[in-house]
Amino acid sequence: MALSHEEQTRIDLAATFRIIAHLGMHEAVANHFSAAVSADGKQFLLNPKWKHFSRIRASDLLLLNADDPACADNPNVDATAWSIHGQIHRLLPQTRAVLHLHPVYTTAVACLATPHIPPIDQNTARYFNRVAVDELYGGMADTEAEGARLAGLLDGKSRLLMGNHGVMVTAPSMGEAFDDIWTLERSCQILVTAWSTGQPLRVLSDDVAEKTARGWEGIADFSRQHFEEMKQLMIEADASVLD
Ligand SMILES: [Zn+2]
Repeated sequence: MALSHEEQTRIDLAATFRIIAHLGMHEAVANHFSAAVSADGKQFLLNPKWKHFSRIRASDLLLLNADDPACADNPNVDATAWSIHGQIHRLLPQTRAVLHLHPVYTTAVACLATPHIPPIDQNTARYFNRVAVDELYGGMADTEAEGARLAGLLDGKSRLLMGNHGVMVTAPSMGEAFDDIWTLERSCQILVTAWSTGQPLRVLSDDVAEKTARGWEGIADFSRQHFEEMKQLMIEADASVLD
C-alpha cells in the first residue's frame, strides 16, 4: 500500500535524525529539524524535546500547526524550536524542510568576527553569495519575534549562518536539505583546515565561483540521491526507524 505524504515525510525526517547522529553532526539532545506536511506549509513535523537523534522514530515526531499558539503548551515541544521553526513554517510556506544544527566546523566559521565562506574549492563555491548571516545572537531564542526575525533573514536565501551559534538550512525537500547541510559542514571543514595551514588561500574568481554554484543548483537530483543512499544505509542498519 502506498504511504501517505505525511507517512513518507515522517520516515524521511526520522531517517535524517539517524543519519545526522550517525555522522556525528548532532549536539547532545539539542537541535531540531522540521518538515511541512500540508500544502500551505503550516502543518509540520518536529522532533520531541530532549530525545537523542539516534533514537527518534517516525511515530515520535510531533505534528504541529504553525498558526496554533496552543502547540507551545505541549510539554514535548521545545520552546526555542517552536519559536523558530513555527515562525519559519508560518512565514515561508514554500519551505518544506528546516534543519538546525551546531556542527563543529560550520559553527567555528560562524564564530568569526566576520562569518564568511570564501570559494576555495567545489564545495565552498556551492555557497558563493548564497548564505545569509545573522550577527545578532542574543542568547537562546524563545520568542516569536526572534523566530520571525530569523525567518526574515531566510527570505530569499535558503541558508542562514547563525553568528556565535550554528546554522539553519531550508529546502524544498528533505533530501536537498540534508545534502546541503552536510556539504556546508564539509565546506567549512575544508576551509578551517586550509586556514589552519597559515598559508595564503587561492580564492576562486567570482566568475568561476558563480558558475560552480549554478552547477550545483542544476543537480538537485544528486542531493536527493545522496539522501536516499544514506537513508537506505540507516534502514538496513536499524529497521525500527520505520516504526
Ligand atoms: Zn541552536
